[in-house]
Amino acid sequence: MERSLTSPVIVPECRLCGADLTETFVNLGMSPLCESFLAADKLDERESFYPLHVRVCPSCLLVQLPAYVAGEDIFSDYAYFSSYSDSWVAHAKNYADSMAETLGLDENSLVTEVASNDGYLLQHFVARGIPVVGVEPAANVAEVARAKGIRTEVEFLGPETGAAVAAKHGRADLVCGNNVYAHIPDITGFTKGLAALVKETGLVTLEFPHLLRLIERRQYDTIYHEHYQYYTLLTAQRALASGGLHLVDVEELDTHGGSLRVHARLTEQPLSQRAQDLLAREAEAGLHDVAGHKGFAAEVDKVKFDLLDFLITARREGKTVVGYGAPGKGNTLLNQCGIREDLLAYTVDRSPHKHGKFLPGTHIPIFAPDRIEKDRPDYVLVLPWNLKIELDAQLAYVRDWGGKLVYPIPTLEVS
Ligand SMILES: [Zn+2]
Repeated sequence: MERSLTSPVIVPECRLCGADLTETFVNLGMSPLCESFLAADKLDERESFYPLHVRVCPSCLLVQLPAYVAGEDIFSDYAYFSSYSDSWVAHAKNYADSMAETLGLDENSLVTEVASNDGYLLQHFVARGIPVVGVEPAANVAEVARAKGIRTEVEFLGPETGAAVAAKHGRADLVCGNNVYAHIPDITGFTKGLAALVKETGLVTLEFPHLLRLIERRQYDTIYHEHYQYYTLLTAQRALASGGLHLVDVEELDTHGGSLRVHARLTEQPLSQRAQDLLAREAEAGLHDVAGHKGFAAEVDKVKFDLLDFLITARREGKTVVGYGAPGKGNTLLNQCGIREDLLAYTVDRSPHKHGKFLPGTHIPIFAPDRIEKDRPDYVLVLPWNLKIELDAQLAYVRDWGGKLVYPIPTLEVS
């Protein structure tokens, strides 16, 4: 780490290659941890805010948020329960069915999932009689999985814990990790853990949001402290290689606004045609050099200004605006825009764990969804835009009283 004599600013280092992170991707200012919902008796207390200053590595191009907060502080009592989203559970079932069939998994196989949450995915393998092991760092979430009969170890994955789980339960035919690869500051240690869990002939699949889509669809609200890095296929390939895994294939998915499912193995194989094609598309989009990452910050400003224009006008006209959903991404958006109860009276969420609590930073209260039917607001600002198809149907009743749904991203949509 270099320290200039004229400037006290310390430049963080790339967690993958060690280069100085001198280039900014986007700086969203200060924000609290997006899942640190507040109880009513904590509202008058001091709250911790951390920078959301995302860098792009000038050497390996990994887009990353320096680890301002340790993973243990974020994930050991995580409030996110995957099973509260219908479309996410359906996505998991499709994955389990197709993998079981493609790989010919049966009662003699083993599927290990990292960050297995409440068992939303592994339950589908269990239903097919395929043995499973979950590795989940949050003890309270792992308890829920165990209660459903999903064998679960409470661990943070690294080289040692990966080896220990493999020694206890065996190495797996399929190791999967959905929406975890962006959440780990020690990429190389985690990848070595995956390598320890998988059989020599086995397959590793990982799903994570694709930086190309994040940029194209202006999804800057998916940037939060829990997401330490934002991959292209190129940087994912480099990350996998750092822990001894070889990228062999990739699928493009619609989940979380546009994700990749990479396939990796312990032994090298020729890269599939669709992986080669995707690498070429990323290069065309400019994402295989630093300069191509610039310009996103201006797009972020457009989203912010449009949303604030809308909310301020609505409030000036005396309209009521409430939120739907209390996802992590909503908190990035609301904090970065400075939206509080003045502009958004409250939000609602299906997860009962959040009811009666308040959003971090903005202190907007969270209620159960039936509050919307009672209050009949003029506008409902939908925060989890990634569930748009599901929510358009679920919230169709808002139009019964002339209410409208508002989506802030990628461009403000009122309908
Ligand atoms: Zn780097």
